[in-house]
Amino acid sequence: MSARDDGLRLALSAWLVFWIVTAAAPAQAEANGASDGLPSLHVAATMPVLGALTRAIGGERIEVTVLTLAQQDPHFVTPRPTLMRTVAKTDALVETGLGMEIWLERVVTGSGNARVRPGGPARIVAGVGIAALEVPRGNELSRSHGDVHPQGNPHAWFDPLVCVRFAANIAEGLTRVDPAGAQTYARNSASFVEALNEKMEEWAALAAPLRGRKFVSYHTTWSYLAARFGFEIPFQVEVRPGIPPSARHRDSVLEAVRANAIPALLTAPYYDRRALEYIAEATGARVLVLPVQPNADSSGQGYFALIDEVLAALVAAVEER
Ligand SMILES: [Zn+2]
Repeated sequence: MSARDDGLRLALSAWLVFWIVTAAAPAQAEANGASDGLPSLHVAATMPVLGALTRAIGGERIEVTVLTLAQQDPHFVTPRPTLMRTVAKTDALVETGLGMEIWLERVVTGSGNARVRPGGPARIVAGVGIAALEVPRGNELSRSHGDVHPQGNPHAWFDPLVCVRFAANIAEGLTRVDPAGAQTYARNSASFVEALNEKMEEWAALAAPLRGRKFVSYHTTWSYLAARFGFEIPFQVEVRPGIPPSARHRDSVLEAVRANAIPALLTAPYYDRRALEYIAEATGARVLVLPVQPNADSSGQGYFALIDEVLAALVAAVEER
């Protein structure tokens, strides 16, 4: 691994130490909550991946409801009354932030739950403090022109080391809402980071054949995975995030696939595949539909399985060509 990776591993260790120290501090916590066998806290998470991380940290002390399905585009969700009713009675709400959940404010407003309003004590923003990739420059298009990444790329959970920060933010937020659970959240967060650290070794070895390779993706869904594991996704079928391809743009991507001997065109289950299939037909590259979320009811292992599955699919695509 590079010096940059070593720096991040150091940061990872620092978080681990922080949480171990925190876990040793408050002692009175275990008196209530999970000891009676019932979750003391109801937590809503906007997406399955946040549900998985929140379950890993909350353990038996919390009950998590995920507001969207793995097969849904997490940017675009209809703010239905059922979502508002769930958020109305939640004790805490976990979101990515970074402009990901365009639909969330309508749900929160409709819920009438003041504690989960932006800046409210029970609003937990997992993405706080991360260095976003692909932050638009001043003269680039904004959300008012249909761009869905005005604050940079929010699909940050595909970098496992960024998930260390997600986990720390979630643990801190749960502790704010439920101080009596501080010890549980700190201990579970430390366990999650330790397990993730072990998986990093495995993933780095698994991803070795991807180093230096180039792919096309429909949306910039896997940019963080590429940055972490040393491959590139320099071409998108969308004109800009959230803006579907024109024929001209599609044809320029087709030429890039030929020029760079790109083996696979990556897409998520919820995107239109016609432009991808057109490019695949013309070039022999294959369309690879990758998962974006872990299983809806999973915990930390579900997150690990998501990264396992995506890396294995990419390696298989490279090795087939
Ligand atoms: Zn996006």
